[in-house]
Amino acid sequence: MVESNAEKRREKRQAAIERREKVRKYLKIGLAGASVLTAVIIIIAVMSGGIYKDEPGFQAFAAAYFEDDDTTKAVGKSQEVVKYGAPLSVAMEYPVTGQATTDSYIANIAVDLENQFRLENKDAKKDDKVAMLLDYDSYNTQRAAVGVVFSQEQQKEKDREMTTVKSGVYTYNFSTETGRPLTSIQIFNPGYKTFCSQYLLDYFQKNHKADLVKGYETALADAEDNFNKYVLTEKGVRFYFDPGTVLKKEKGTAFAEITYEDLKGTIRDQIETRAIDPSKPMVALTFDDGPYPKTSNRILDCLEKYGVPATFFELGQNVNNYPEVVKREAELGMEIGSHSWSHPNFKKISSKKAKQQIDKTNNALKKACGQASTVFRPPYGNNTKAIEKYANAPIILWSVDTLDWKSRKAKSVMKVMKGVKNLDGRVILMHSIYESSAKAVEKMVPWLLNEGYQLVTVSELLEYKYGETPKNGKLYGYNYFYTDKQ
Ligand code: ZN
Repeated sequence: MVESNAEKRREKRQAAIERREKVRKYLKIGLAGASVLTAVIIIIAVMSGGIYKDEPGFQAFAAAYFEDDDTTKAVGKSQEVVKYGAPLSVAMEYPVTGQATTDSYIANIAVDLENQFRLENKDAKKDDKVAMLLDYDSYNTQRAAVGVVFSQEQQKEKDREMTTVKSGVYTYNFSTETGRPLTSIQIFNPGYKTFCSQYLLDYFQKNHKADLVKGYETALADAEDNFNKYVLTEKGVRFYFDPGTVLKKEKGTAFAEITYEDLKGTIRDQIETRAIDPSKPMVALTFDDGPYPKTSNRILDCLEKYGVPATFFELGQNVNNYPEVVKREAELGMEIGSHSWSHPNFKKISSKKAKQQIDKTNNALKKACGQASTVFRPPYGNNTKAIEKYANAPIILWSVDTLDWKSRKAKSVMKVMKGVKNLDGRVILMHSIYESSAKAVEKMVPWLLNEGYQLVTVSELLEYKYGETPKNGKLYGYNYFYTDKQ
């Protein structure tokens, strides 16, 4: 029993090797005059029984598809996933870069594309024989970024031939610093689409006149929806256009590359990891009552990992005890606010004492990180005339209280966050002195980013979301930080 199974497996392997050899042989012939794809289609027709006869047949087909192509794979090790099935089969190749955040994004993209493919073809009949093929190109760039393009095809076997029924590309540019996908605003200077429109209209008119489709000007116009599909390469930025939008459908996905040289002034000299897009939703995370080394550093580790900022409203007496934590906050680009020296209720202290609480804290901050507070938050949210007079900074309350001090549970904090219908424009209140809050941050940051929120400091929120230049001594209270009424 064991032996015969082993024998069967050996035979199967041998058959697969033979098929693969055959595929290679024909591929080489095909390559002389035709594209790789055409070659694959040719040899598939020659192969006995078609690729869906059995699993080894499909595996040989997938191997040939990935092996003899003309892709650029400058970054990452290729991971191959081949799943044979009737009627749906999948063959994917994607890069593993070694950057954990990037790799988890990429793995998710592959999963999403496969799920989408299976959903689209859920009504396929058993002998329909449909395959999803996913290949990629990856590029080192002259920026702190890695460019990845996925090329997806859906092929259907008919009369022993594989015919492409659908194709498309998906582009990603990952920051080598944070590992996350970069947005246009982080890569280009404002107004880049105006330049791209002029340049690419000219390029396609000069070089592909015969293949232009009617209305190609719309796809190349200086408009919001255009020039969003691109990848950074070694030499420039390659823009992609879906089949039939610029060039005739049978030409497949059209692309054109603009060199970094030509893009000068249009592309940023360096990737701006902190660029803020005012048109996209944003949230400000704030942490009171620190610094406290163990938990503050755990929060900072997470913010550093994702390359995002937050605002820390620190107590002067803690700053005095742990100046190195505040120094790290400043170095990481966090906004540093004051939360008084010893957390008194300002409604119960004299004006003179209030001034002391504020000044003493600013002196401690200056000593720790070289700068006074840029924002002030009164303990218990109790604002007074004395604060307005002496704070020398905008007074900032909040609009979502996570109640982290009360629940002391990361899960409960996340539940509060997920319970808010729209977090755009909100200031989130947390405390940097609890382990549970640090744990919540580790869940919250990736969740917010995944939901499409940008993380910003309080001052950035005022400026970019509300168009407000922060004014010293002005109270930005509970009702200020809403972009809609809920
Ligand atoms: Zn407090």
